[in-house]
Amino acid sequence: MDRLTYIICGKLYDGLEDEFKEGYKILVKKDKIEAVGRDIVCPESAEVVDLSDATVTPGMIDAHMHMDYIDWHTIREEVYTTSEEAKTLAIVRTAQKTLSRGFTTIRHTGGITSNGFGVLDVKRAIEKGYITGSRIVAAPRFLCGAGSHGDLSQGFARNPELSMILQNLRPTLGAGKDFFVNAVREEIKYGADFIKIMATGGFFTPYDNPSQLQMNDEELQAVINTAHEWGKTVTAHVYSVDHMKKLIGFGIDGMEHCSLMDEETAQLIIDNDVYVVPTFCPYEEAVHYDPVLIQTKQEEYRIKLEYYKDALQAGREVIRNCKCKLGYGTDMVATHQNYDSGYEFKAWMESGMGTFRTLHAATKVNAEILQLEDKIGTLQPDKYADIAAWKRDLMTDPYALLDCAFVMKEGVTYPTERCEEL
Ligand SMILES: [Zn+2]
Repeated sequence: MDRLTYIICGKLYDGLEDEFKEGYKILVKKDKIEAVGRDIVCPESAEVVDLSDATVTPGMIDAHMHMDYIDWHTIREEVYTTSEEAKTLAIVRTAQKTLSRGFTTIRHTGGITSNGFGVLDVKRAIEKGYITGSRIVAAPRFLCGAGSHGDLSQGFARNPELSMILQNLRPTLGAGKDFFVNAVREEIKYGADFIKIMATGGFFTPYDNPSQLQMNDEELQAVINTAHEWGKTVTAHVYSVDHMKKLIGFGIDGMEHCSLMDEETAQLIIDNDVYVVPTFCPYEEAVHYDPVLIQTKQEEYRIKLEYYKDALQAGREVIRNCKCKLGYGTDMVATHQNYDSGYEFKAWMESGMGTFRTLHAATKVNAEILQLEDKIGTLQPDKYADIAAWKRDLMTDPYALLDCAFVMKEGVTYPTERCEEL
Protein backbone atom coordinates (compact mmCIF):
# COMPACT_ATOMS: atom_id res chain seq x y z
CA MET A 1 0.00 0.00 0.00
CA ASP A 2 1.19 3.52 -0.74
CA ARG A 3 2.77 5.38 2.16
CA LEU A 4 0.55 8.22 3.44
CA THR A 5 1.60 11.21 5.53
CA TYR A 6 -0.84 13.70 7.04
CA ILE A 7 0.74 17.05 7.91
CA ILE A 8 -1.03 19.44 10.26
CA CYS A 9 0.15 23.00 9.50
CA GLY A 10 0.19 25.87 11.97
CA LYS A 11 0.48 28.43 9.20
CA LEU A 12 0.86 27.61 5.52
CA TYR A 13 2.56 29.50 2.69
CA ASP A 14 1.76 27.56 -0.47
CA GLY A 15 3.93 29.46 -2.98
CA LEU A 16 0.81 30.67 -4.79
CA GLU A 17 -0.70 33.38 -2.65
CA ASP A 18 0.96 36.08 -0.55
CA GLU A 19 -0.54 35.02 2.75
CA PHE A 20 -0.17 32.61 5.63
CA LYS A 21 -3.22 30.35 5.72
CA GLU A 22 -4.36 28.80 8.98
CA GLY A 23 -6.02 25.48 9.73
CA TYR A 24 -4.58 23.71 6.68
CA LYS A 25 -3.53 20.10 6.29
CA ILE A 26 -1.44 18.42 3.61
CA LEU A 27 -1.92 14.80 2.61
CA VAL A 28 1.16 13.22 1.05
CA LYS A 29 0.87 9.97 -0.90
CA LYS A 30 4.22 8.30 -1.59
CA ASP A 31 6.41 11.01 -3.12
CA LYS A 32 3.65 13.44 -4.19
CA ILE A 33 1.20 15.85 -2.65
CA GLU A 34 -2.27 14.31 -2.77
CA ALA A 35 -4.31 17.18 -1.31
CA VAL A 36 -3.96 20.55 0.45
CA GLY A 37 -6.87 22.12 2.31
CA ARG A 38 -8.77 22.75 5.52
CA ASP A 39 -11.17 19.83 5.37
CA ILE A 40 -8.90 16.93 4.55
CA VAL A 41 -9.72 13.84 6.58
CA CYS A 42 -6.78 11.91 8.00
CA PRO A 43 -6.74 8.38 6.54
CA GLU A 44 -6.41 5.68 9.20
CA SER A 45 -3.15 4.35 7.77
CA ALA A 46 -1.46 7.78 7.53
CA GLU A 47 1.48 8.81 9.64
CA VAL A 48 0.60 12.12 11.32
CA VAL A 49 3.18 14.94 11.39
CA ASP A 50 2.08 17.71 13.72
CA LEU A 51 3.55 21.05 12.66
CA SER A 52 0.83 23.09 14.32
CA ASP A 53 3.49 25.25 16.02
CA ALA A 54 5.34 26.04 12.76
CA THR A 55 4.96 27.74 9.38
CA VAL A 56 4.90 25.23 6.54
CA THR A 57 6.26 26.19 3.12
CA PRO A 58 7.34 24.49 -0.08
CA GLY A 59 10.90 23.13 0.16
CA MET A 60 13.15 26.11 -0.48
CA ILE A 61 15.27 26.47 -3.62
CA ASP A 62 18.67 28.18 -3.88
CA ALA A 63 19.29 29.25 -7.48
CA HIS A 64 22.95 30.26 -7.19
CA MET A 65 25.32 27.93 -5.38
CA HIS A 66 28.86 26.69 -5.78
CA MET A 67 28.85 23.34 -4.00
CA ASP A 68 32.40 22.13 -4.54
CA TYR A 69 34.38 23.24 -1.50
CA ILE A 70 34.34 22.59 2.24
CA ASP A 71 34.86 26.02 3.79
CA TRP A 72 34.65 29.51 2.29
CA HIS A 73 37.66 30.62 4.33
CA THR A 74 39.89 28.14 2.44
CA ILE A 75 38.19 28.26 -0.97
CA ARG A 76 41.24 29.67 -2.76
CA GLU A 77 43.52 26.94 -1.40
CA GLU A 78 40.98 24.24 -2.13
CA VAL A 79 41.08 25.12 -5.84
CA TYR A 80 44.65 23.81 -6.03
CA THR A 81 45.21 21.62 -2.97
CA THR A 82 42.35 19.12 -3.22
CA SER A 83 41.66 16.41 -5.83
CA GLU A 84 38.59 16.23 -8.06
CA GLU A 85 37.49 13.29 -5.88
CA ALA A 86 37.76 15.43 -2.73
CA LYS A 87 35.82 18.21 -4.46
CA THR A 88 33.09 15.70 -5.32
CA LEU A 89 32.92 14.67 -1.66
CA ALA A 90 32.52 18.36 -0.79
CA ILE A 91 29.57 18.47 -3.23
CA VAL A 92 27.99 15.46 -1.48
CA ARG A 93 28.40 17.17 1.90
CA THR A 94 26.93 20.45 0.61
CA ALA A 95 23.90 18.63 -0.84
CA GLN A 96 23.29 16.87 2.49
CA LYS A 97 23.65 20.05 4.52
CA THR A 98 21.40 22.21 2.32
CA LEU A 99 18.71 19.52 2.52
CA SER A 100 18.97 19.49 6.31
CA ARG A 101 18.43 23.26 6.23
CA GLY A 102 15.14 23.04 4.33
CA PHE A 103 16.51 23.74 0.84
CA THR A 104 15.28 20.73 -1.10
CA THR A 105 16.56 21.89 -4.51
CA ILE A 106 19.73 23.76 -5.43
CA ARG A 107 21.21 25.12 -8.64
CA HIS A 108 24.98 24.75 -9.01
CA THR A 109 26.16 27.66 -11.19
CA GLY A 110 29.55 26.19 -12.06
CA GLY A 111 32.36 24.74 -10.01
CA ILE A 112 34.62 27.28 -8.34
CA THR A 113 37.29 24.79 -7.29
CA SER A 114 36.45 21.85 -9.56
CA ASN A 115 36.98 21.28 -13.26
CA GLY A 116 35.15 18.00 -13.49
CA PHE A 117 31.67 16.52 -13.61
CA GLY A 118 31.44 15.20 -10.06
CA VAL A 119 28.36 17.34 -9.45
CA LEU A 120 26.50 15.34 -12.11
CA ASP A 121 27.49 12.03 -10.48
CA VAL A 122 26.22 13.36 -7.14
CA LYS A 123 23.02 14.59 -8.80
CA ARG A 124 22.38 11.17 -10.36
CA ALA A 125 23.26 9.29 -7.14
CA ILE A 126 20.72 11.42 -5.24
CA GLU A 127 18.08 10.89 -7.94
CA LYS A 128 18.63 7.11 -7.79
CA GLY A 129 18.43 7.17 -3.98
CA TYR A 130 21.99 5.87 -3.41
CA ILE A 131 22.78 8.90 -1.24
CA THR A 132 20.64 11.63 0.30
CA GLY A 133 20.79 15.31 -0.52
CA SER A 134 19.01 18.21 -2.15
CA ARG A 135 17.88 17.81 -5.76
CA ILE A 136 20.56 19.33 -8.00
CA VAL A 137 20.32 21.34 -11.22
CA ALA A 138 23.83 21.97 -12.51
CA ALA A 139 26.11 23.76 -14.90
CA PRO A 140 29.22 21.72 -13.96
CA ARG A 141 31.86 24.08 -15.38
CA PHE A 142 31.40 27.75 -16.22
CA LEU A 143 32.76 29.13 -19.50
CA CYS A 144 35.27 31.97 -19.28
CA GLY A 145 38.40 33.63 -20.71
CA ALA A 146 41.99 34.11 -19.55
CA GLY A 147 42.39 36.57 -16.68
CA SER A 148 38.62 36.64 -16.19
CA HIS A 149 36.55 36.31 -13.03
CA GLY A 150 36.38 32.59 -13.81
CA ASP A 151 40.15 32.23 -14.08
CA LEU A 152 41.25 31.47 -10.52
CA SER A 153 44.87 31.22 -11.68
CA GLN A 154 44.82 35.04 -11.73
CA GLY A 155 45.67 34.76 -8.02
CA PHE A 156 49.14 33.72 -9.22
CA ALA A 157 49.29 36.32 -12.01
CA ARG A 158 52.46 37.85 -10.58
CA ASN A 159 54.15 34.53 -11.30
CA PRO A 160 53.26 34.10 -15.00
CA GLU A 161 54.95 30.72 -15.46
CA LEU A 162 53.00 29.14 -12.61
CA SER A 163 49.81 31.00 -13.49
CA MET A 164 49.94 29.68 -17.05
CA ILE A 165 50.24 26.09 -15.86
CA LEU A 166 47.28 26.54 -13.51
CA GLN A 167 45.23 28.34 -16.17
CA ASN A 168 45.57 25.30 -18.43
CA LEU A 169 43.90 23.12 -15.79
CA ARG A 170 40.53 24.68 -16.70
CA PRO A 171 39.21 23.10 -19.92
CA THR A 172 36.32 25.56 -20.27
CA LEU A 173 38.65 28.58 -20.27
CA GLY A 174 39.52 29.77 -23.75
CA ALA A 175 38.98 32.29 -26.53
CA GLY A 176 37.21 32.64 -29.83
CA LYS A 177 33.85 31.70 -31.24
CA ASP A 178 34.81 28.12 -32.16
CA PHE A 179 36.24 27.39 -28.73
CA PHE A 180 33.01 28.45 -27.04
CA VAL A 181 30.72 26.69 -29.53
CA ASN A 182 32.55 23.45 -28.77
CA ALA A 183 32.64 24.12 -25.03
CA VAL A 184 28.85 24.51 -24.93
CA ARG A 185 28.37 21.27 -26.88
CA GLU A 186 30.74 19.41 -24.55
CA GLU A 187 29.02 20.64 -21.41
CA ILE A 188 25.66 19.51 -22.78
CA LYS A 189 27.14 16.19 -23.94
CA TYR A 190 28.28 15.37 -20.40
CA GLY A 191 24.95 16.36 -18.86
CA ALA A 192 24.85 20.09 -18.05
CA ASP A 193 21.31 21.26 -17.29
CA PHE A 194 22.16 24.81 -18.40
CA ILE A 195 25.17 26.92 -19.36
CA LYS A 196 26.87 29.48 -17.10
CA ILE A 197 29.26 32.13 -18.43
CA MET A 198 31.53 34.61 -16.72
CA ALA A 199 30.67 37.47 -19.07
CA THR A 200 32.31 40.22 -17.01
CA GLY A 201 34.81 40.83 -14.21
CA GLY A 202 33.97 40.41 -10.56
CA PHE A 203 34.49 41.60 -7.02
CA PHE A 204 36.10 38.55 -5.41
CA THR A 205 38.97 37.99 -7.85
CA PRO A 206 42.14 40.01 -7.23
CA TYR A 207 43.20 41.41 -10.63
CA ASP A 208 40.03 42.16 -12.60
CA ASN A 209 36.98 44.34 -11.99
CA PRO A 210 33.21 44.37 -12.54
CA SER A 211 33.42 46.99 -15.33
CA GLN A 212 35.34 44.72 -17.70
CA LEU A 213 33.57 42.83 -20.47
CA GLN A 214 35.53 39.56 -20.46
CA MET A 215 33.97 37.79 -23.44
CA ASN A 216 33.57 39.59 -26.76
CA ASP A 217 30.36 39.91 -28.78
CA GLU A 218 31.20 37.02 -31.08
CA GLU A 219 31.96 34.73 -28.14
CA LEU A 220 28.80 35.71 -26.24
CA GLN A 221 26.63 35.18 -29.30
CA ALA A 222 28.29 31.85 -30.04
CA VAL A 223 27.54 30.57 -26.52
CA ILE A 224 23.93 31.75 -26.44
CA ASN A 225 23.08 30.59 -29.97
CA THR A 226 24.68 27.16 -29.53
CA ALA A 227 23.00 26.54 -26.18
CA HIS A 228 19.64 27.50 -27.67
CA GLU A 229 20.21 25.27 -30.71
CA TRP A 230 20.69 22.42 -28.23
CA GLY A 231 17.64 23.40 -26.15
CA LYS A 232 19.48 24.72 -23.11
CA THR A 233 19.38 28.07 -21.35
CA VAL A 234 22.29 30.39 -20.56
CA THR A 235 22.85 32.55 -17.52
CA ALA A 236 25.63 35.10 -17.11
CA HIS A 237 27.65 36.57 -14.28
CA VAL A 238 27.22 40.33 -14.93
CA TYR A 239 27.09 43.67 -13.08
CA SER A 240 26.96 46.77 -15.25
CA VAL A 241 24.01 48.01 -17.29
CA ASP A 242 25.93 48.20 -20.59
CA HIS A 243 26.83 44.54 -20.31
CA MET A 244 23.33 43.54 -19.26
CA LYS A 245 21.85 45.36 -22.27
CA LYS A 246 24.29 43.62 -24.58
CA LEU A 247 23.42 40.18 -23.19
CA ILE A 248 19.69 40.88 -23.43
CA GLY A 249 20.22 41.89 -27.06
CA PHE A 250 21.95 38.56 -27.72
CA GLY A 251 19.00 36.65 -26.23
CA ILE A 252 20.34 35.63 -22.81
CA ASP A 253 17.86 33.73 -20.61
CA GLY A 254 19.04 34.78 -17.16
CA MET A 255 21.51 37.03 -15.41
CA GLU A 256 23.23 36.65 -12.03
CA HIS A 257 24.03 39.54 -9.64
CA CYS A 258 23.07 42.58 -11.83
CA SER A 259 24.08 44.63 -8.79
CA LEU A 260 24.62 47.92 -10.65
CA MET A 261 21.12 47.89 -12.16
CA ASP A 262 19.28 51.04 -13.31
CA GLU A 263 15.59 51.58 -14.07
CA GLU A 264 15.95 51.57 -17.86
CA THR A 265 17.70 48.19 -17.78
CA ALA A 266 15.15 46.80 -15.32
CA GLN A 267 12.44 47.64 -17.87
CA LEU A 268 14.42 46.01 -20.67
CA ILE A 269 14.75 42.87 -18.51
CA ILE A 270 10.97 42.79 -18.04
CA ASP A 271 10.26 43.44 -21.73
CA ASN A 272 12.54 40.56 -22.77
CA ASP A 273 11.35 38.13 -20.10
CA VAL A 274 14.84 37.62 -18.68
CA TYR A 275 15.18 36.39 -15.09
CA VAL A 276 17.60 37.89 -12.55
CA VAL A 277 19.16 36.18 -9.53
CA PRO A 278 20.47 39.22 -7.63
CA THR A 279 22.50 37.33 -4.93
CA PHE A 280 22.49 39.99 -2.20
CA CYS A 281 24.73 38.14 0.30
CA PRO A 282 28.20 38.89 -1.16
CA TYR A 283 27.62 42.67 -1.27
CA GLU A 284 26.05 43.25 2.13
CA GLU A 285 29.16 44.90 3.59
CA ALA A 286 29.09 47.53 0.83
CA VAL A 287 25.32 48.04 0.63
CA HIS A 288 24.90 48.38 4.40
CA TYR A 289 28.29 50.03 4.69
CA ASP A 290 30.13 49.60 7.95
CA PRO A 291 33.66 51.07 7.91
CA VAL A 292 34.79 48.67 10.65
CA LEU A 293 33.27 45.47 9.26
CA ILE A 294 34.59 46.13 5.75
CA GLN A 295 38.13 45.94 7.16
CA THR A 296 37.65 42.21 7.70
CA LYS A 297 37.61 41.70 3.90
CA GLN A 298 40.81 40.95 2.03
CA GLU A 299 42.34 44.16 0.72
CA GLU A 300 41.78 43.66 -3.02
CA TYR A 301 38.06 42.94 -2.49
CA ARG A 302 37.63 45.63 0.13
CA ILE A 303 38.97 48.24 -2.32
CA LYS A 304 36.46 47.17 -4.99
CA LEU A 305 33.53 47.02 -2.58
CA GLU A 306 34.38 50.51 -1.35
CA TYR A 307 34.88 51.88 -4.88
CA TYR A 308 31.48 50.57 -6.00
CA LYS A 309 29.73 51.18 -2.67
CA ASP A 310 27.47 54.04 -3.83
CA ALA A 311 26.66 52.31 -7.12
CA LEU A 312 25.87 49.06 -5.28
CA GLN A 313 23.55 50.93 -2.92
CA ALA A 314 21.79 52.65 -5.84
CA GLY A 315 21.52 49.34 -7.70
CA ARG A 316 20.00 47.63 -4.66
CA GLU A 317 17.39 50.37 -4.49
CA VAL A 318 16.47 49.83 -8.16
CA ILE A 319 16.25 46.06 -7.63
CA ARG A 320 14.03 46.59 -4.57
CA ASN A 321 11.61 48.74 -6.57
CA CYS A 322 11.70 46.81 -9.85
CA LYS A 323 9.12 44.35 -11.17
CA CYS A 324 11.70 41.99 -12.70
CA LYS A 325 11.41 38.25 -12.23
CA LEU A 326 13.79 37.85 -9.28
CA GLY A 327 15.16 34.50 -8.13
CA TYR A 328 16.65 33.68 -4.75
CA GLY A 329 20.34 32.74 -4.83
CA THR A 330 23.19 33.02 -2.36
CA ASP A 331 26.59 32.76 -4.10
CA MET A 332 28.34 32.26 -0.75
CA VAL A 333 31.95 32.28 -1.86
CA ALA A 334 33.14 35.02 0.48
CA THR A 335 30.62 35.52 3.30
CA HIS A 336 29.07 32.37 4.78
CA GLN A 337 29.23 28.60 4.31
CA ASN A 338 27.68 27.65 0.97
CA TYR A 339 24.98 25.47 2.59
CA ASP A 340 23.63 28.24 4.85
CA SER A 341 21.25 29.37 2.12
CA GLY A 342 18.93 31.02 4.64
CA TYR A 343 21.24 34.04 4.89
CA GLU A 344 19.82 35.42 1.64
CA PHE A 345 16.43 35.70 3.40
CA LYS A 346 18.11 37.92 6.02
CA ALA A 347 19.68 40.03 3.27
CA TRP A 348 16.33 40.44 1.45
CA MET A 349 14.56 41.31 4.73
CA GLU A 350 17.19 43.92 5.56
CA SER A 351 16.80 45.44 2.09
CA GLY A 352 13.05 45.82 2.55
CA MET A 353 12.09 43.19 -0.03
CA GLY A 354 9.29 41.84 2.16
CA THR A 355 8.61 38.31 3.38
CA PHE A 356 6.27 37.16 0.61
CA ARG A 357 8.37 38.47 -2.27
CA THR A 358 11.35 36.64 -0.78
CA LEU A 359 9.46 33.39 -0.20
CA HIS A 360 7.95 33.62 -3.68
CA ALA A 361 11.44 34.01 -5.17
CA ALA A 362 12.79 31.02 -3.21
CA THR A 363 9.92 28.75 -4.24
CA LYS A 364 7.70 29.38 -7.28
CA VAL A 365 9.99 31.76 -9.18
CA ASN A 366 13.07 29.61 -8.63
CA ALA A 367 11.18 26.52 -9.76
CA GLU A 368 10.49 28.36 -13.04
CA ILE A 369 14.13 29.45 -13.36
CA LEU A 370 15.20 25.82 -12.88
CA GLN A 371 12.52 24.73 -15.40
CA LEU A 372 10.98 22.45 -12.76
CA GLU A 373 7.74 24.40 -12.24
CA ASP A 374 5.61 21.36 -13.09
CA LYS A 375 7.26 19.37 -10.26
CA ILE A 376 8.24 21.70 -7.38
CA GLY A 377 7.92 25.24 -5.99
CA THR A 378 4.30 25.23 -4.80
CA LEU A 379 2.22 23.06 -2.49
CA GLN A 380 -0.36 21.66 -4.90
CA PRO A 381 -1.68 18.19 -5.74
CA ASP A 382 0.62 16.14 -8.04
CA LYS A 383 3.72 18.16 -7.20
CA TYR A 384 6.58 16.45 -5.38
CA ALA A 385 6.10 16.49 -1.61
CA ASP A 386 9.03 18.86 -1.02
CA ILE A 387 7.98 20.56 2.21
CA ALA A 388 9.77 22.59 4.88
CA ALA A 389 8.65 24.11 8.17
CA TRP A 390 10.01 26.94 10.28
CA LYS A 391 9.47 27.74 13.96
CA ARG A 392 10.57 31.37 13.86
CA ASP A 393 8.31 34.20 12.68
CA LEU A 394 8.92 34.68 8.95
CA MET A 395 7.35 38.15 9.07
CA THR A 396 9.73 39.59 11.67
CA ASP A 397 12.79 37.37 12.19
CA PRO A 398 15.54 37.78 9.55
CA TYR A 399 17.15 34.55 10.80
CA ALA A 400 13.97 32.51 10.28
CA LEU A 401 15.23 30.58 7.22
CA LEU A 402 18.43 29.60 9.02
CA ASP A 403 16.52 27.56 11.60
CA CYS A 404 14.67 24.76 9.83
CA ALA A 405 12.24 22.73 11.96
CA PHE A 406 11.16 20.10 9.42
CA VAL A 407 12.12 18.99 5.95
CA MET A 408 10.58 16.46 3.56
CA LYS A 409 11.76 15.72 0.03
CA GLU A 410 9.66 13.56 -2.29
CA GLY A 411 7.62 12.35 0.69
CA VAL A 412 10.60 11.30 2.82
CA THR A 413 11.38 13.18 6.04
CA TYR A 414 15.02 14.03 6.79
CA PRO A 415 16.76 15.28 9.95
CA THR A 416 17.15 19.06 10.16
CA GLU A 417 20.18 21.11 11.15
CA ARG A 418 20.15 24.77 12.09
CA CYS A 419 22.86 27.21 11.04
CA GLU A 420 25.74 26.82 13.50
CA GLU A 421 26.23 30.60 13.68
CA LEU A 422 22.85 31.14 15.35
ZN1 LIG B 1 28.60 32.69 -8.38
